Amino acid sequence: MKPTMLTSLLLAAGLACCSAFATAGTAAADSTLVQDVRVFDGKAAHEHRSVLVRDGMIVDADYRAQPPAGSRVVSGAGRTLLPGLIDAHVHAFQHFELPLVFGVTTEVDMFTAVPTMQKITRAMAEGRNRDQADVFSAGTLVTAPGGHGTEYPIAIPTLENGGDAQAFVDARIAEGSHFIKVVMEEGLGSRQFKSLDAATVKAVIDAAHRRGKLAVVHITTLANARAALEAGADGLAHLFPGARIAQEDADGLAQLAASKGAFVIPTFSVLESMAGVKPRGILDDPAITGLLDKEERATLEAGYRPVPAPALMTAPKTVAAALRKAGARVLAGTDAGNAGTQYGASLHHELAQLVEAGFTPREALVAATSAPADSFRLGKRGRIANGYKADLVLVEGDPLQDIAATRRIVEVWKDGESAAALREQQRQHVAQDAAPKPAQALPLEGRISLLKDGRLASPFGIGWIPSTDQFAGGVSSVKLDAQPDPRGGQAGAVIAVAATVKPGFFYPWAGAAFMPGTQSMQGADLSRAKVIRFRVRGDGQQYQLTMASRGMTIPRGVSFEAGAQWREVAIPFDAFAGVDPAAVTMIGFNAGPQPGDYRFEIADVRLLDR
Ligand SMILES: [Zn+2]
Repeated sequence: MKPTMLTSLLLAAGLACCSAFATAGTAAADSTLVQDVRVFDGKAAHEHRSVLVRDGMIVDADYRAQPPAGSRVVSGAGRTLLPGLIDAHVHAFQHFELPLVFGVTTEVDMFTAVPTMQKITRAMAEGRNRDQADVFSAGTLVTAPGGHGTEYPIAIPTLENGGDAQAFVDARIAEGSHFIKVVMEEGLGSRQFKSLDAATVKAVIDAAHRRGKLAVVHITTLANARAALEAGADGLAHLFPGARIAQEDADGLAQLAASKGAFVIPTFSVLESMAGVKPRGILDDPAITGLLDKEERATLEAGYRPVPAPALMTAPKTVAAALRKAGARVLAGTDAGNAGTQYGASLHHELAQLVEAGFTPREALVAATSAPADSFRLGKRGRIANGYKADLVLVEGDPLQDIAATRRIVEVWKDGESAAALREQQRQHVAQDAAPKPAQALPLEGRISLLKDGRLASPFGIGWIPSTDQFAGGVSSVKLDAQPDPRGGQAGAVIAVAATVKPGFFYPWAGAAFMPGTQSMQGADLSRAKVIRFRVRGDGQQYQLTMASRGMTIPRGVSFEAGAQWREVAIPFDAFAGVDPAAVTMIGFNAGPQPGDYRFEIADVRLLDR
């Protein structure tokens, strides 16, 4: 989703899409009155209230007089007004406008790149993020060398067991971390991680507390959950998957959390992804899917386990119910940013999952409003009360009876400003994205490696680009050179690739890529092509022809050899299992993952219908 670009396009075209909202007075009115509405104030429900908003604040949560002159009046009949929802566990690195579209006005980020965190914090301080959710971030998480968190394509500092926890925590605070996130995880099955030990975790928690900061611990087992709470953790960032758990173990953990005053964020949404369970409730709800483009929806439909194992949800559901019984604080968090989740949308699923685990709808709503605001010390938000931030969601019906009503959003306000135009813009973007587009016609003789004015060119799409792991944080490099094919005529270009592959990313690569779409993430419909054929020669090493389609994070590859003599290679499209030929985003000719210098040339690259 690129709302900024879309906005400027709409403005440039002079389209009137947003004028309906302008005349409705969202910008002009100096106050907004939501009249005769059911109010859930973050704790309890009140019938037939009117709420007055001015200057980004709730000035009267129980307004009884005539509408003030010049105010915009919004009917609340049959509707419920909620505090803007808070997702207590996300990874904020993309789709920054999406949360607001779904009524999530605040996110608690559990690990993102430091520059991203600092940019968001600055924008919040200057009031420049009114069209985005506020984000309170842990910044860099605290993990051991080789620990969970180091497998992603951003380089992060790590803490040795027994290392200087205070210095490490102070460095995070200096970077701007709102709170401290610590990782305790040994990994599962073949995916093993080095973990911080309990003593170091305690040292980190103590160091955070010494500076007045919260410390939240990522755990994936019962033993680590107990150890983290014993070490003084303010909260657990997850519950853990498991096909069974003894009731006394669940009760014991819940009582420990309650006695320590700690909060727990179950993150059912990501645990389901790990269990191969799809969030059917929201995937089948047009109120949600009507606001997700194909790529955004593909992420929500993806998951970490191809074969469903729904039994793995037994332990988290049992523990969540035990936490409720023990009176421990539970917060709604999705772990959005992961496969199987989507920013904003997944919080509505998380609320439904809390209800399925035995929470009343009111308790679930507390978990997504006042409880996270209080637990993470987020200031005057998460409540509908005088003097609080006017982050609000108006929904049809009564989510206190039917939690799914949170999805039937009428309007969202952030800092008192309506997000109606943003939501409408997203709706139009999704409609445009869903409209069928004709398949890409194959070019003359199928050839996509052309030479124009001495430069590498293509008959359609973004064209040819140098492609390396640098954009994912690696340090490999590549140089492309295009020369006329000595065979002349229409033969096009010979592309010489000089690549240096270096370690520094978990799957290093460097090479040349053809981007067939006019927008890189959207791709192109290449379903008319059945085979890709090209000529190659080189240094005798192995190379990969890779292909990816929309929503795919790791491309599929087929290897080929580049010997001293020119040779023709033909690879059928169906060799790239899982790639959707109707939405191809990239075709790559890559060296790697073994480090080293590579030299090869490709020529006469063709997409052929047989
Ligand atoms: Zn997470």
